[in-house]
Amino acid sequence: MQDLFKDRIEFLKAEIIKHNRLYYEQNTPSISDSEYDALFKELKDLEASFPEFATADSPTKKVGAANIASEFTEVTHKYRLYSLDNTYNYDDLRSWYEKIQKELGREDIELVCELKIDGLAMALSYNVGLFIKGATRGNGIVGEDITENLRTIKSIPKNIDFKSPLEVRGEVYMPISSFEKLNAARLEENKPLFANPRNAAGGSVRQLDPEVTRERDLAFFAYTGVLDTVDAEIYTHFQMLELLKKQGFVVNPNIKICKNIEEAIKYCDEWDEKRHELGYATDGIVIKVNNFAYQDELGFTSRAPKWATAFKFKPEEAVTKLLDIEINVGRTGAITPVAVLEPVKLAGSTVSRATLHNADEIERLDIRIGDWVWVKKAAEIIPKIIKVELSRRESDLPPFFYPKVCPSCGAPIEKDEEGVIQYCTNITSCPAQLKGKLKYWAGKDGVDIDGLGDSIVEQLFDMGFIKNYPDIYYLTREDLLKLDKFADKSAQNLIEAIEKTKHSEFASFISALGIKFVGKETAELIARAFPTFDNLKNASLEELSNVEGVGEKIAISIREFFNSEENLKLIEKLFNSGFEIKYPEKISENAPFNGMTMVFTGALSRITRNEAQKLAKSLGATVTNSVSKNTTHVIAGEDAGSKLDKAKKLGVIILNEEEFFDMVEKGKSNE
Ligand code: NAD
Repeated sequence: MQDLFKDRIEFLKAEIIKHNRLYYEQNTPSISDSEYDALFKELKDLEASFPEFATADSPTKKVGAANIASEFTEVTHKYRLYSLDNTYNYDDLRSWYEKIQKELGREDIELVCELKIDGLAMALSYNVGLFIKGATRGNGIVGEDITENLRTIKSIPKNIDFKSPLEVRGEVYMPISSFEKLNAARLEENKPLFANPRNAAGGSVRQLDPEVTRERDLAFFAYTGVLDTVDAEIYTHFQMLELLKKQGFVVNPNIKICKNIEEAIKYCDEWDEKRHELGYATDGIVIKVNNFAYQDELGFTSRAPKWATAFKFKPEEAVTKLLDIEINVGRTGAITPVAVLEPVKLAGSTVSRATLHNADEIERLDIRIGDWVWVKKAAEIIPKIIKVELSRRESDLPPFFYPKVCPSCGAPIEKDEEGVIQYCTNITSCPAQLKGKLKYWAGKDGVDIDGLGDSIVEQLFDMGFIKNYPDIYYLTREDLLKLDKFADKSAQNLIEAIEKTKHSEFASFISALGIKFVGKETAELIARAFPTFDNLKNASLEELSNVEGVGEKIAISIREFFNSEENLKLIEKLFNSGFEIKYPEKISENAPFNGMTMVFTGALSRITRNEAQKLAKSLGATVTNSVSKNTTHVIAGEDAGSKLDKAKKLGVIILNEEEFFDMVEKGKSNE
């Protein structure tokens, strides 16, 4: 049994050393940071439980990569550089604070919180006011001399007023916009892409030609300094940052002094959200004891200071296995490849599917089923595959062949005008498109038929009972009884639910038609602009383009839709079934919510969200689904998510349920 643990320790050590080399020396990690952190933690825990197997050469006791890449001249650091201990949870931060309270024998220990910039640590030496040497952290004792490269970075001052020896430490990073530009250019030149700004910064500053560094648009944030002299009267970390600012260094402006750990945790919480607004990548928060005397008292472990720790944000990048590539055909005929992934935790949620955009993207990535892939997902962003980890590809994976014809009906595929999206050309009888249109009609963005879910639509279609949406209104109980698991009661319920939607609101009806580019929100705007369906059907391009929120592209699409004989025939068949449009009641010009655009998010307790939306509309508000600069109010119920965050960002008025009902009451009494 003991041997098992010993073997595991040896295995982990070798793995971590291998990944250190890939990450620090070659800037090409093959596993994600969270996978690395998990290996590191496992090794640390095992070494703590079995100290007899812990050796001095373990990576848990060292900083960075073991060796220094040979092409650079070595620099022995005057003062050792360290790594940071890190955690992903607040309880560990509290334990760390308690530990230092105990060690220092006092309660009130002031902290400084800073963003943890996701770049590369540098030590810059100044003497008699001149920048004389710049080196990477390396293994903390010896670094690489990259002075000439660092000289090309504008935010690194070459002369300063401070004349005594000074070592400035900070992070070289690449702004996100520069990273995106660099990758776009590399894509054009068929060069391998960098997985993230950190690797790009590493590849740009740790190479032999200073001109390459100059072209790469790197920047530097200073985060501390080390002085030889005691005359400078600098007693705290914060004072040191002030000194650096005075000398012309760029210190990150989002620095906060916190009285205790709870204040620091609040800062972490705040930046977990706000960091997406920054133009550079951060992977956490660094929390440091402010007072230098306390720092001295606490000291260091072999790898990290005891007076500082890092809180790491939930990872937004992960490496996982591609299990399959599904080729979906949507209701408009658009063909979209979707990656089916081994589920992985990202940005706080589990991701098992990611977009692959189109055939060109698949070709560019040369992605194959069975590959390990880097997936990225930020707070509100759809998961996306950034690159294939070729170093982990098994040798016999066959290439993926993108279909040349529609996978549903075999019809030819054509690209759209922009040459990006592929469409199935068989508009009238491609089963995938027809099913998609039926599901859309019956779904939430359509007339919302209770109980007519996707699988029932599939069955009804496959059994030949429905082909186009009007057919739904000619279904009989007998038809439904032939369905899987359908008995009298369920058949009757569905017939009644269908019957109910025979009186659908104008906006729902317009949306349900599935006109290209006309979703639920645009349908709302159109329904308000035209008094009857006939007016809409016969509207000219100009009349349509004049509707607020309807541009030329949408107007053309609507006109084309109503010019189609096929569509008009379907609408006629629908009306012949007894289908009627419910027009909205005329809202008076003085309606209290006139001019307001509201978005509802989260769960309400008094009434359903749907009912609340109707109520707001009846008082004159426009209700939409997404928050934009046109939104005037967001009504946030329980567990409101990203819409609430966006509203905060845009400075939109946010109401809770009570405040909304107060406004309704006031509005009604003023009507
Ligand atoms: P670290 O990056 O977690 O923390 C220490 C570093 O933070 C410092 O050296 C400094 O460069 C940086 N930093 C940024 N802002 C700072 C600030 N305001 N104040 C102080 N320091 C600041 O530690 P590390 O030793 O550089 O690297 C370990 C981490 O690197 C791992 O946790 C992992 O995330 C990653 N890593 C990944 C792989 C991989 O294969 N994916 C391999 C090795 C390391």
